[in-house]
Amino acid sequence: MTLLEIFPSLRSGTPPRLDAAVWPRETHYDDEGRVTVGSVALADIADHYGTPTYVLDETEVRARCRAYRAVFPEARIAYAGKALMIRAVASWVAEEGLWVDVCSSGELALALAAGVPPRRIIVHGNGKTCDELRAAVRAGVGRIVVDSPAEITLLSALATTPVDVLLRLSPGIDVHGHPAVHTGVLDQKFGFPLGSEAAADAVARVLRQPNLRLVGLHCHLGSQIHDPDHYGEAVRRLVAEMAVIRREHGVLLTELDLGGGHAVAYRPGDAELNLTELAQVLEDALDAACARQHFPRPVLILEPGRAIVARAGVTLYRVVSVKHVEGGHTYVTVDGGMGDNPRVALYGARYDVVVANRHPCGPQMTATVAGRFCEAGDVLAADVRLPVDLRAGEVLAVPCTGAYHHSLASTYNSVGRPPIIAVADGRARELVRRETVEDLLRRDIAV
Ligand SMILES: *Cc1c(COP(=O)(O)O)cnc(C)c1O
Repeated sequence: MTLLEIFPSLRSGTPPRLDAAVWPRETHYDDEGRVTVGSVALADIADHYGTPTYVLDETEVRARCRAYRAVFPEARIAYAGKALMIRAVASWVAEEGLWVDVCSSGELALALAAGVPPRRIIVHGNGKTCDELRAAVRAGVGRIVVDSPAEITLLSALATTPVDVLLRLSPGIDVHGHPAVHTGVLDQKFGFPLGSEAAADAVARVLRQPNLRLVGLHCHLGSQIHDPDHYGEAVRRLVAEMAVIRREHGVLLTELDLGGGHAVAYRPGDAELNLTELAQVLEDALDAACARQHFPRPVLILEPGRAIVARAGVTLYRVVSVKHVEGGHTYVTVDGGMGDNPRVALYGARYDVVVANRHPCGPQMTATVAGRFCEAGDVLAADVRLPVDLRAGEVLAVPCTGAYHHSLASTYNSVGRPPIIAVADGRARELVRRETVEDLLRRDIAV
């Protein structure tokens, strides 16, 4: 046995870094220098299932659920399914004791099909249709978050037995996110502005309906929030509002839903929301607000989506071509792009990319990883470091792609959506199959 066989990392000049902040915790290099997640080599997944492919680490998803349960033992944790709603994930999070948020009949059907108890489902959305509300009522979901006066009337007409509702308020907290994702400000499409006439009317209107039970208030401040103080502020404002409702209507609300939006790191060094700090801030804010208002402590509800699944996901691509533009950039074109990851185009998101089928030893180049879709803006990552001798056919892996990737994917350019392959304890398992050309042809029913 040579030294190189004993210490494969000697092959590389610098030890590669697979930063624990952006990769699943069980990510390693194997003896051949290939990246493994959950003890499965990503290159083997690419060979077996083709590319592009979403890989999802079950252990990481469950570990994130457990972290929330451990840090917030008294809170109710609801997984926001819109981040990635497939049956396997819904069943994992339910097994870990979480509730599940849904925002459409499709998500509701998937959650129910996964065996999530209806009483542990929360229904959201600013545009719930009559059919969707009816499906939610029929299923006997645990909570419906009401968002408009029309919905209150409709829901009351549909409910045959009392329905527990939360009222969505926008508390006017500006978290300085991307305008597409910050939803806590007053002038926006979701809910009722806190302190407004409309909010007061909505409370009164819900309380007048004999088959609607107002159990609490809800807010969602936005996405990628890393400063826990914003949530502390939301607690103060909403507990004050609960005290107003008690004073004016003699009704004691018992639940305070703070929504999701907990930030994760997409690249090493990105700011992340620290759960322990969040717990401390919430505890202090609840103590202070409840003491000030002489209000009994409500049950807190937290709705993380991204923070549960983002880091569990890794997307695999194969290099199609490497092009050096004279006096310009080096473009590494891969077989996926904005169809499977629209977040770059939508939010200007930035990603790390690594070669997965071999150790990235030797000299590196700075390259732009471009997608295969017919838009100049279809770039997955700019200025990433990749081996200078990278060739067509090699496998690239993009970490932190478990949330809002599959769920936002499209069939642009009539390219079918990638499969989702779960890994756990050295085994790979197909959860969602690849969308084929036959699938696309089947929907297109007339010439
Ligand atoms: C989107 C959303 C969430 C989850 O947001 P993340 O950023 O994925 O944590 C939670 N609650 C509501 C109401 C949402 O709209």
